[in-house]
Amino acid sequence: MTEKKLCPLCHKELKLRESAYPMGSAFLKADRVHVDIYVCPECHRVDLYEAKSDMVTCPKCGSLHSAKEACAICALNGGLDEANN
Ligand SMILES: [Zn+2]
Ligand SMILES: [Zn+2]
Repeated sequence: MTEKKLCPLCHKELKLRESAYPMGSAFLKADRVHVDIYVCPECHRVDLYEAKSDMVTCPKCGSLHSAKEACAICALNGGLDEANN
């Protein structure tokens, strides 16, 4: 699936800790960055990689967001109306 990430210090394979983790505020969508968080099992170094694979385009408003989350823009616009999802 994804290429292996290696720790630059001990060259162990980094373990994926979180995928497409949202960085930044949900209300500052222009500044939002999603990252994959990798941790080295040996030295516990944390590496961040920009997550692009989990981004999906919202069919309703066309905005880009993480596949793991609901669309923030539709959530703001539609309020609690998710019954027809
Ligand atoms: Zn390491
Ligand atoms: Zn949307």
